Amino acid sequence: MKKALVCISCPMGCCLEAEISEQGEFLGLSGNHCARGAAYARQECLSPTRMVTALLPVPGIVTPLSVRTDKPLPKAQIFPCLEYLKTVKPSLPVRIGDIIVPDILNSGVNIIATRNLPSD
Ligand code: SF4
Repeated sequence: MKKALVCISCPMGCCLEAEISEQGEFLGLSGNHCARGAAYARQECLSPTRMVTALLPVPGIVTPLSVRTDKPLPKAQIFPCLEYLKTVKPSLPVRIGDIIVPDILNSGVNIIATRNLPSD
């Protein structure tokens, strides 16, 4: 089975075509111009991940707290993660880099603040 991808590892945006077996094994790749593209395609085909960002309402103030994962999260966990984040009520003060949710959904990924609240 062939899978078309666009490499997002650099601005060139190479069009890739990966070959995957019926059992889900990565068999080969064409269209990449460098090893980074090959690594990206393999990861995307076998275990896709994404960075996740969100805005969390903070009780008592209008300004929401922006957060992100500290590393990519498996794609299948993105929506459960966003659902979980709806239940989180951060308490102030928060500094950039503070861990708001450690090890979310036992993924090994932390949710961290990307702004100071209250603002400096
Ligand atoms: S394959 Fe290499 S050159 Fe092409 S977009 Fe990916 S990183 Fe850039």
